[in-house]
Amino acid sequence: MRLAIEFGGTNFKLGLIDNSGNVIRIDSIPLQHLIQEKNILKAILSYVNKFLGSEQIVCGGISSKGLVDHDKGMVQDDVGEGKLIENIPLRDIFSDEFSVPFIMDNDARCYAWGEWRFSRDQGINNLTVITFGTGIGCASVFNGKMLYGSDHLGGVMGGHISIDKNGPRCHCGNYGCFELYCSKNALLKQFSSHNLELIDDDPVKLFFSQLRKKNNKIKNKIFESFIQHVSVGLTNIIHAYGPDVVVLGGGIMKSADLMIDKITHLVNEMAFTVPRGRIKIIQSKLGDTAPLLGAAFHPSLEKNHEYTI
Ligand SMILES: [Zn+2]
Repeated sequence: MRLAIEFGGTNFKLGLIDNSGNVIRIDSIPLQHLIQEKNILKAILSYVNKFLGSEQIVCGGISSKGLVDHDKGMVQDDVGEGKLIENIPLRDIFSDEFSVPFIMDNDARCYAWGEWRFSRDQGINNLTVITFGTGIGCASVFNGKMLYGSDHLGGVMGGHISIDKNGPRCHCGNYGCFELYCSKNALLKQFSSHNLELIDDDPVKLFFSQLRKKNNKIKNKIFESFIQHVSVGLTNIIHAYGPDVVVLGGGIMKSADLMIDKITHLVNEMAFTVPRGRIKIIQSKLGDTAPLLGAAFHPSLEKNHEYTI
């Protein structure tokens, strides 16, 4: 068995995965619950131990939002609630606690590796994943290798590509970043500025489900604007990384069937001649399990240890 741990924008999630990649069990709690604890590290370890019970694991992978230093196995830079686990060497702490190898990497990278390892079609050599959740995540796998670049930044900053230099200032320092227009937080701001009342645990999910049923002028306007912004962001990322396929994941893209034809059409209008018409834009096949699978079967675990499948 392998353990996958995910620090998401909202939830802390655990997955128990067998050596063939079957997800045996998943559990999650709001990240806020852990943050309220006096000793967050103790609370995390206690939750993980309770989840595992008597189950033995051979290795583990930790997937986290933010800028993750994969070499040191810790979050190097993050915002909001993620700040609380910044600069804590979680990989080594988990490795010591369970006496097995662990890795830690950025969540979009784990997502991309999960898709690469478990669901890509034959003939796909270069794959980029873009996740639309609380923020926007981005990562690429090229010819079987994860893109890292210098300073662990390679491929993960897609959410901070500017799509409007006159746009609002982002916490990263840039103006008009992609995630200021196309993340869950961005959509919530749109709902609020249009006085849309979407009372639900998940207003974004409710928005898309209502779009399917009702012809509402304001909702359609928000949707069309969202599609335009997503298409500009995707075109920039496709121009930067040149993938064969762009996989769309994250909570928002659970409604990707509403969007993919429109986005593909717009991207083909904006993309340069070579990728035009060639790029495949698809919905994630693995969904929420992708980052868990990618973390538990991370290439660093496969490369360095003998329990490869
Ligand atoms: Zn930014």
